[in-house]
Amino acid sequence: MSYQSMEEAQERCKREGIEFWKAVQLEDADERDVKETDSWEQMRGMWQAMLDSIDNYDPSLMSRSGLVGKEGGLMEAYREEKDTLCGDYMAKVMANALKMGCNNACMKRIVAAPTAGACGVLPAVLVTYFREYDVPEEKMIEALYVAAGIGQIIANRAYLAGASGGCQAEIGSGSGMAAAAICHVKGGSTEQIAAACAMALKNLMGLVCDPVGGLVEVPCVKRNVGGAVNAMAAADMALAGIISQIPLDQVIDAMKEVGDRMDVSLKETGIGGVAGSLRAQEVVKKM
Ligand code: SF4
Repeated sequence: MSYQSMEEAQERCKREGIEFWKAVQLEDADERDVKETDSWEQMRGMWQAMLDSIDNYDPSLMSRSGLVGKEGGLMEAYREEKDTLCGDYMAKVMANALKMGCNNACMKRIVAAPTAGACGVLPAVLVTYFREYDVPEEKMIEALYVAAGIGQIIANRAYLAGASGGCQAEIGSGSGMAAAAICHVKGGSTEQIAAACAMALKNLMGLVCDPVGGLVEVPCVKRNVGGAVNAMAAADMALAGIISQIPLDQVIDAMKEVGDRMDVSLKETGIGGVAGSLRAQEVVKKM
């Protein structure tokens, strides 16, 4: 899946008359020397693991620090009982993002796409859509190829780890991947997929990595909600015909530059940002 740029992938799509997801799958099969069908089955396994993880959420569990765990259940109950501000569908997206973030904090099985900290963004956007609408499973697996291809380009040009580039590299990349993936599901062109990703990444550029006590709990779990909602907004903008004035590859390069300039206290060291707040310091003392 190792395209060095979206431009390179788009050129192949045009040259061979294939969709972006197919270009990613062909590259994966070629690079790992496996059949296309084997690559597909592995991706189907990832999809199933995402579905299972959301279903296995347990609202009675708390993380070892006691900071997070029940948020997914609270959001679900609120959605069922009250009139939400964001509407029922978006509340489902938010609840699923929280469930996955809590699952990770509570050591349950998740799919780290692109990372464990950002594991809620992609399933919140894709699984919610799959369960709400009558979409063939094949379309969702194609969408995972779209996400994987975008993630690989970001990894090749910048980074995916908060310790390397701040949370923009984790939640930001997860959001960009999810925006591109759902744009594909909704019938977006390769250009629209790239625009959706570029807009999602730009919206979260500069986001710092500041986990309280160095634990992937606060602010991480709730940031998955931000990433998911941002992805949906970016995809809708792209599908509306709104373009990104800055091409995706240049947005990724800008993200790398911002990450390189970011102070080390804001790169998963648990020193700066909300990790440096008074309350965070009190929490850490009690651990
Ligand atoms: S704050 Fe850091 S650890 Fe938490 S999700 Fe973002 S990048 Fe990951």
